[in-house]
Amino acid sequence: MMAAETKTTCPYCGVGCGVIASVADDGGVSVRGDPDHPANFGRLCSKGSALAETIDLDGRLLFPEIRPSPLPSPRKERGEGYSGVTTHISSLAPGSKEVAATFRPPSPRVRGEGKGEGQVSWDEALDLVARKFSETIAEHGPDSVAFYVSGQLLTEDYYVANKLMKGFIGSANIDTNSRLCMASSVAGHRRAFGSDTVPGVYEDLEEADLIILTGSNLAWCHPVLYQRIASAKEKRPAMKIVVIDPRRTMTCDIADMHLAVRPDGDVALFNGLLAHLAKSPALDDDFIREHTNGFAEALAAARTSEADIISLTGLSQGDIEAFYRVFEGTQRVVTCYSQGVNQSSSGTDKVNAIINCHLATGRIGRPGMGPFSLTGQPNAMGGREVGGLANMLAAHMEIENPTHRERVQRFWNAPVIAAKPGLKAVDMFKAVADGRIKALWIMGTNPVVSMPDADSVADAIRNCPFVVVSDIMRETDTTQYAHVLLPAAGWGEKDGTVTNSERRISRQRQFLAHPGEARADWRIICDVARRMGFGAAFAFENPAEIFAEHAALSAFENGGDRDFDIGGYAGISPTDYDVLKPFQWPAPSFPLAGKVPAERADGGGDDCALSFTTPTRPLARTPSPQGGGKASAIRFFANGNFYHPDRKARFIAVESMATERVNLAYPSVLNTGRIRDQWHTMTRTGKSARLSSHLAEPFAEINPDDAAALGIADATLVQITSPHGKVLVRALITSRQPRGSVFVPIHWTDQYASNGRVDALVPPVTDPVSGQPALKNVAVSVEPYKAE
Ligand code: SF4
Repeated sequence: MMAAETKTTCPYCGVGCGVIASVADDGGVSVRGDPDHPANFGRLCSKGSALAETIDLDGRLLFPEIRPSPLPSPRKERGEGYSGVTTHISSLAPGSKEVAATFRPPSPRVRGEGKGEGQVSWDEALDLVARKFSETIAEHGPDSVAFYVSGQLLTEDYYVANKLMKGFIGSANIDTNSRLCMASSVAGHRRAFGSDTVPGVYEDLEEADLIILTGSNLAWCHPVLYQRIASAKEKRPAMKIVVIDPRRTMTCDIADMHLAVRPDGDVALFNGLLAHLAKSPALDDDFIREHTNGFAEALAAARTSEADIISLTGLSQGDIEAFYRVFEGTQRVVTCYSQGVNQSSSGTDKVNAIINCHLATGRIGRPGMGPFSLTGQPNAMGGREVGGLANMLAAHMEIENPTHRERVQRFWNAPVIAAKPGLKAVDMFKAVADGRIKALWIMGTNPVVSMPDADSVADAIRNCPFVVVSDIMRETDTTQYAHVLLPAAGWGEKDGTVTNSERRISRQRQFLAHPGEARADWRIICDVARRMGFGAAFAFENPAEIFAEHAALSAFENGGDRDFDIGGYAGISPTDYDVLKPFQWPAPSFPLAGKVPAERADGGGDDCALSFTTPTRPLARTPSPQGGGKASAIRFFANGNFYHPDRKARFIAVESMATERVNLAYPSVLNTGRIRDQWHTMTRTGKSARLSSHLAEPFAEINPDDAAALGIADATLVQITSPHGKVLVRALITSRQPRGSVFVPIHWTDQYASNGRVDALVPPVTDPVSGQPALKNVAVSVEPYKAE
């Protein structure tokens, strides 16, 4: 008998690949790439193809729990030196002594039999959450509570969480772990374009003659896009690829040029490029004059002496000139950027320095051209669409715009509306630490591992009077501090939508039963909202109803002043939602016949059939070379219309400055990031033996010269220390790592390794515009580990 097949979307990175999941009669699950999905056309990377290996119930949180006494924080547990959990790497280190005194066994398998300690009914748990939040708000005001949510949530989950906090509680204290991933791109887009708009589409990566990958290890972090580019380059060897990254990553394997820029040298490099372009025939004077403001000021700020560019970037004059020449001489240029750009104290300036160069040459919004922010998480983009950031409202409306606030409040028929931006992630946990936040709900994320200054975050959460965590896993570094644990449905167990880096909305579909008593996040949030007295506004029966409301709000009194609009889906029925095919936004003007039109279901119509109601709308639709005339791509800004009130883009003057953090005590630069086969804190990918065999343990990449100077041998244990914490990992000596620096992956946690949380080393330094933490330029010391 044929296995039942379900089309869904991968839950890992922002590429947003289509997946076909098959469930056999015996319950066995297999996955393969969806050949019809426009993000991947059947491809999957190692993580996507191992999805079926990560859906067992080991370690799952299956029932609501109320825990009276959260565990001590890592600092208290650790005391002096390393006395906490140990790492499995100690047993693998030849000749090394045991690192720590105790070993935490793996979490017991939880299969839903029996009643665990603290297990309560849903009613008991939800009543307590609603009562505690209501009492805290009544006593201390709406800003005394906060939601910390996740780019793993589906858009429908995000929508109701944002609606509850901003429209019914009346605070904007909802922020997301996507703040750690793409907030600088959002801020840069808004400064330059007047909207948070990614202008281009994935096809641009295949149509470009020059691709610049800056701060992006695409081969490991967005592997299917890497595959698409590698395959395009194979067909068109003349295509040039430049990688700008301090490390010689695997992405460099397809690069024609690797610029090993110094940490945070990107602004200087792109400022120098702008100054170079200003003297070249590539400058598009007409575009600058007719469609932009601020060029002269940006150019004045960009003019940096050659010596300063060399010193700030650490690059040779020859390499810099070669890069500038290839950019100048190539019309079809796409500049992709990701966490190496965003996760910086100058992240927003970096984004604008890149966009400035595309505006100066008019290379934006046309096939094969434009700046392209790659989102890290599967639904970072969907969270932006529904206002899941502390400084945004739903549907890309602005919290500081009174017209937008009134519009959203009226649409929701809400008793209040947040009047000012809320606390961004780092500030939110500072407010938890100093007692301003007294009730915190963490949804689908693990901030005790992923936040900078992670030990302080753990202390803050532990000391918070009331902490709720909804998660799929029972024992994470964060769930141990919860007073209430709410079991959430995971991938394959729930329905909803996600939006990928090219603004394409795709369905995630349920093909597995909810395990235990797990519920979808949107339902949990609505259950709490109803108990807080907001029943009418949260009476959703299914995610299709939420999506329809979200779509209607996006179109509500839309005068063409915003980029995000999916109003054409406002009347979508649950039946049409069930069969919804991937489509790109905006989608403002499809007819509502209670049925998804074929052209809409295909993600576009034949031959650009879409017409837009606002003539100055900054859009263009072009047929896709991949889509065989069916799918087509929507790009923004080719016609030179932007979303600032005067319809012009803004050049932003940004300064080329050094961000020197190292000092005598902490002389090395720590860079953090992902590896190919793990996702975030490994709660899912850590279950796959295949994925874990790629790189089985935490490590520190160290340059051979540094290792020799420090007396560190390959595969021995090293201790990395900053003023905020320390980690213990194994040395991986490689010339891919530049001298004076060390790279440690973000994935391992105290669940897997003693003091393995690398973000415990990172100070809570943020970009002043975006609030995004600087996770890639941290001063540390590196030394061989000596057992005490
Ligand atoms: Fe999933 Fe990203 Fe891999 Fe695609 S590239 S299969 S979305 S992890």
